[in-house]
Amino acid sequence: MRKNITTLIKEGIVLGDGGYLIELERRGYVDSGSGREKVGTGKGSGQFTPEVAIENPEALRELHREFLRAGSQVLQALTFFGTREKLSRAGYGAQTEQINSAAVRIAREVAGDNALVAGSVSRTQLFEREGPSAAAHARDQLAEQIRLLKDAGVDFLMLETFFRLDEMLIALECGRASGLPIVATLSFRPRITKCSDGHAPAECARAMAEAGAIAVGANCEQEPERMIPLLRQMRDAVKVPIAAQPAAFRTTEACHSFTRMPAFPDELETIQIARGRFFEFAQMAKNEGIGYLGGCCGCNAAYIRSLARGLAEPSTK
Ligand SMILES: [Zn+2]
Repeated sequence: MRKNITTLIKEGIVLGDGGYLIELERRGYVDSGSGREKVGTGKGSGQFTPEVAIENPEALRELHREFLRAGSQVLQALTFFGTREKLSRAGYGAQTEQINSAAVRIAREVAGDNALVAGSVSRTQLFEREGPSAAAHARDQLAEQIRLLKDAGVDFLMLETFFRLDEMLIALECGRASGLPIVATLSFRPRITKCSDGHAPAECARAMAEAGAIAVGANCEQEPERMIPLLRQMRDAVKVPIAAQPAAFRTTEACHSFTRMPAFPDELETIQIARGRFFEFAQMAKNEGIGYLGGCCGCNAAYIRSLARGLAEPSTK
């Protein structure tokens, strides 16, 4: 019998996995959308959507295997951007059920009894497109996807890459209704001082913990070094463990968000950071109140293996 995430996280640092969409885009299976419009304008036509789960399942299976071999204790089903409206913009709305259930099934096949399977749920992009009146629409979209993930049999929910606290709190409410444990991480941009609707990291952490998340934190957008100060602010504000899944791309003092850098998405290779920074991050994590550690965009299995080594080896400082 697999241990559940709530137990696992109490026993020590849980090692998650890396980023799927950018890695699969590099391997030729995911559309970055860069040929169609400027990514990040909120007017996307479906870039970085997860239809690979039904169109090239073997590619997804292989990436899961690599993360598992690298030491991941959790495999995230590739259901990121898997809400019906977002998939519709990519031309896959009618396959919403199929994509979500296939992604969970593939992750489970690879995980077997060796890893937990998390259902990944991210922002709908509706707030960016429709403004604050999007709340009800976003709620319907998130509730539907969470139902699909629960039906598909995920072990817990990973609410991630939300830019706004208000939308995250809607997702947490939908998640609570499922009864599944929830890890909740926001992405801070363009700077680490505030999320997109203006709340500081400490305030976000408190709100997410009060809303029932078993671990709260940040994912994506920054490299480990830049993410650390915001993680510390969160850690000092809550009693639950901190979850951290940084990106493997270098940001600048002026812009703390790699998706806002000119290199995104077609020149990401020029801002890739070395896996060694993830080894160092794992060494530090042991003293930073971090309970869930993984990687986001730009992290392939080599980065996860570096995290695993960093956790296993005695800290040098
Ligand atoms: Zn990411």
